[in-house]
Amino acid sequence: MSNKYSLGIDLGGTKIAAGLCKDGEILKKVVFPTSVSNGTQHILKTMVDAAKQAMDGQSIENIVGIGIGAAGQINSETGDVIYSPNLNWYNVPLAASLEKEFKIPVRVLNDVRAATVAEQKFGNGKGYDNFANIFVGTGVGSGFVINGKLLNGATNSAGEIGHVCMDPNGPLCGCGKKGCLEAYCSGTGMENYVKNELKKGRNSIISDMVEGNIELIKGPIIGKAAEQGDELALKAIKRVGYYLGIGIANVHTLINPDVVLIGGGMTALKSYFMPTLLETMNTYILPVAAKNKQLIKEAKFENDAVLLGGAAIFA
Ligand SMILES: [Zn+2]
Repeated sequence: MSNKYSLGIDLGGTKIAAGLCKDGEILKKVVFPTSVSNGTQHILKTMVDAAKQAMDGQSIENIVGIGIGAAGQINSETGDVIYSPNLNWYNVPLAASLEKEFKIPVRVLNDVRAATVAEQKFGNGKGYDNFANIFVGTGVGSGFVINGKLLNGATNSAGEIGHVCMDPNGPLCGCGKKGCLEAYCSGTGMENYVKNELKKGRNSIISDMVEGNIELIKGPIIGKAAEQGDELALKAIKRVGYYLGIGIANVHTLINPDVVLIGGGMTALKSYFMPTLLETMNTYILPVAAKNKQLIKEAKFENDAVLLGGAAIFA
């Protein structure tokens, strides 16, 4: 199989990236915008076009399969997208539709789970039988590899760490419940915290940076304010570290993995949140689990993790 290629597709709410891959390397990559307003068929057609361009003249006989990482709830057995809020999809037979076009095997995983396969086969999870890969970006998700296998769970939702409750009276989460890890540690959670503090009259250079329009507050602006020593920005970022540390301690206590990987856009702020993260992680972890020699490590792949992971399903 090693002389063959596989195709990986990252199907996101704003872009579709497809790549021709071999042994964990992307040989050719194309990126198309996802036009959600044009509907399901249009997105499927864009995926077919992207895959064909990414093939870069290779004949289909040389491609073992197409692996897709998609945001949302996926039935990884059938390759159906059960529900994807970003795409506005309900019960879309994604794998079947691409198989019909290309006549080679197509597999679909949730995007963070796909990224976990990339880390397992070619990244910083390589060589570990048990690890968790936590993605902290606009949302918070994770994938678990247990005894060398990706954990799907009874209803394909294993790894939804973003919706583990940290405080039943905490801030509202996108899922409709209160106090989820994601409501604290995602970019959105951090932004909401800053917005609320400013509404309460807290002083911060962030107000000036967005010229008073607090709806414009985004993670990178909070990062810039932190660079200038802004107290609110630093507090908001440390709060991410505080809760993420507890979340990671809970993962260690519960499954005692070889390591927990962290990745995603929020890691750009790690120099501000890591000390707090380590402090709470070490406080709340069960002592026997804390004896593990390496508790956390950064994920290897950044923007291409999902695409590489899709392709890695066939590697
Ligand atoms: Zn939630």
